[in-house]
Amino acid sequence: MEHNKVRINVFHTGQVYVDPSVPRGEKNPFAFTGLFRDKSKRLWLPVSAYLIEHPQGLVLVDTGWNTLVRTEEKKHLGYASISDRARLPEGEAVTEQMKRLGYHPSDLEYVLLSHMDLDHTSGLSMVKEAKHIMCSEEEWKDTKKFPIRYKNYWKETEIERFIYEPSHYGPVNRSYDLFGDESILLISTPGHSHGIFTVQVRNSGKFVLLIGDVGYMRASWEKQILPGIVADKKAEVKSLEWVKKMSEQEDCVEILANHDQEVVPHVIEL
Ligand SMILES: [Zn+2]
Repeated sequence: MEHNKVRINVFHTGQVYVDPSVPRGEKNPFAFTGLFRDKSKRLWLPVSAYLIEHPQGLVLVDTGWNTLVRTEEKKHLGYASISDRARLPEGEAVTEQMKRLGYHPSDLEYVLLSHMDLDHTSGLSMVKEAKHIMCSEEEWKDTKKFPIRYKNYWKETEIERFIYEPSHYGPVNRSYDLFGDESILLISTPGHSHGIFTVQVRNSGKFVLLIGDVGYMRASWEKQILPGIVADKKAEVKSLEWVKKMSEQEDCVEILANHDQEVVPHVIEL
């Protein structure tokens, strides 16, 4: 790989199933299920993670499922196993996919947690040798405030917190510049949770947005379909409007939602 290139590996690290009949939070967690005809098949959604090979270091965005779900799914999910199920086929764990590319967890400069929901943090113990593991200060505070929503997978992991800085990026003009050169920006896009961010990866005049759970699929921003779990509805509407605006920019290569069934694992080179 040329040394000034950036490569984003889009992984599927298993799948998540949420039973739509179990109400959780303020609203039906998967309010969009009406869109799917065959519920029994289509409610298994991919759980993505992204490995960014960047000139400044190796960066992982979210962790996907822990290999523990293969043998002790219920125990690992805890109370969430009432409504959620986790599936992680052999070879799909984030560390297994990294290994195929020749990487070990200790090669990771950063693990960025878009937000702290269980399908994004379950695999933390597998990548704890990373040099830095980070989430936003606001998200961290919410894990204390809402212990029912957030399962503590970070007991033995040191999580660093960053504070969003005022900027001209995003729906609320706040972001965190990871390397100080705007090549990887963590852009505050609140709604699904308070501290959640979108990752903007920019290189050679083009950018990719990894929006996490700001939307579950392309239709989320194209048709304003809100995720079922929303901590701040007004903010969520604004965040999706911003994603839509970004999608119309000429230098936008791709926008990826974490649980989009239309997305297949692939590699993006910028
Ligand atoms: Zn999720």
